[in-house]
Amino acid sequence: MAIAAGTFESLELRGVGRSFGGVDALVDLNLMVRAGEFIALLGPSGCGKSTALNCLAGLLPLTHGQILIDGARVDTLAAEDRGFGMVFQNYALFPHMSIEKNIAFGLEMRRLPKQEIRRRVDEAVALVKLEQHVHKLPGQLSGGQQQRVAIARAVVLEPRLVLMDEPLSNLDAKLRLEMRTEIRRLHQSLGLTTIYVTHDQEEALSMADRLVVLRDGRVQQIGTPAELHDAPRNAHVADFMGYRNLLDLVITSVEGTSVTATDQGFTLRGTAVDPVAVGDRVRAAIRPEDLVVVPASEGASDNTNVATVSIVEYHGREFAVGVTTPSGRLLHVRSDHAPAIGSPVELRADPARVLVFPSDPSDAAALSVEERELEEVRT
Ligand code: ATP
Repeated sequence: MAIAAGTFESLELRGVGRSFGGVDALVDLNLMVRAGEFIALLGPSGCGKSTALNCLAGLLPLTHGQILIDGARVDTLAAEDRGFGMVFQNYALFPHMSIEKNIAFGLEMRRLPKQEIRRRVDEAVALVKLEQHVHKLPGQLSGGQQQRVAIARAVVLEPRLVLMDEPLSNLDAKLRLEMRTEIRRLHQSLGLTTIYVTHDQEEALSMADRLVVLRDGRVQQIGTPAELHDAPRNAHVADFMGYRNLLDLVITSVEGTSVTATDQGFTLRGTAVDPVAVGDRVRAAIRPEDLVVVPASEGASDNTNVATVSIVEYHGREFAVGVTTPSGRLLHVRSDHAPAIGSPVELRADPARVLVFPSDPSDAAALSVEERELEEVRT
C-alpha cells in the first residue's frame, strides 16, 4: 500500500482569531478548505500568516472562533492528536539522527510494526529522491536536501493536512524554483491537502489553488491565482499582485467606471474598481509592465505625464527603469532600451490596466514608508 493522505471532506476555519496581550495578530479568519486543495496564506511580514498556521497546528490556542474538520471541532485537540504534518522554514530535523531515523521517528513514536515503518520510510525517501543519503546526518546535506527530509518526515505520517511555514525561504533562488515544483508534485501525487505560508507572491501564485491575502491580521481577499491577479479587490492586494506602482491622486472626472485622476500635473486615466466621485482621494495601481516609456515629445512641458529617468537596471531581455514624477514619486516601468539617467520621458498606460481604488485612511502610513524609500533612492 502506498503512502496516501488521510481523508476528510472539508476543513473549516470559523471566525478564527488570536490576540497577544490585547493586540490582534489574527482577526475573524473564515475559510472553507476542500480536501485536496493547496491554499497559500500570503502577506507581508507581521500580517498574521504564521499565527494562523500555528493556530491550525495546535501550537497556539485560539482566542476566538473554531476549527472544524467535517463539522467536528479540532481546535480543542492537542497538536499531536490533530493528525497534521508540519514543515518549518528551519527544517527542525534532529541533528544527531540519520536521515532515515529522522523520517522514521514519528512512526516509531506511534509504535507501528518495524516492517511497516521500513516500508513507509523507504517509500518516503524515494518520493523525495534521497535514496543515496539515508545514512547521513542532516548536517551533511544541503539546505534543499534537508527540506526534502522535513517534507518526507511530514508525509510519511499520512497526515490529513500538511502545514508549511515558509519552507523555501532559506534556499537559494534556483533551488526554490525546483522545490516549488517538487512540493506541488508531492501534493498532487499523494492527494494531500496543503496550507502553505509565504510572503512571496510568485510562489503563492504558482503553487496554490487558492490564495488568502492577509494584512494586519485581516483577510483582504480569498481567490484563485487568476482572480487575485486580474481583479485585486483593494490596493493592498494589488500591491501584492505585482501592481508595484501605487499613486495617490484626486479624481477629476468620472464616466461610469472610466475615471481621470491627477496629482500635481500628473494625470492618469484609469478604471474605478469601486464607485468614486470627483474630488475623491484615490489610489491608482499600475504594473511596471503596463507603463510604457516613450521619449518625451517636443514641447514636453505641456505634456502632463512627463517624468525623469532616475534608475536604469539591466534585466536581460529588458530594462527595469525608475522614473520620478514631478511630485517626486518614484515609478517602476519596463523599457526595451536604456534611457539616459536624467532624461525626460513620457509615460503611457492603457486605462483598462490602471486600477483606481478609493483611498484607505491607513494608506497614509504605508505612503510614508514609500516616501522614506524614495528618500533613500534620492540620497
Ligand atoms: P513573518 O512573515 O514575519 O513571520 P507573519 O505574517 O507570520 O510574519 P505573525 O508571526 O503571525 O506574522 O505575527 C502577527 C503579529 O502578531 C505580529 O504583529 C507579531 O508581532 C505578533 N505576534 C506573533 N507572535 C507573538 C507573540 N508570541 N507574542 C506577541 N506578539 C506576537
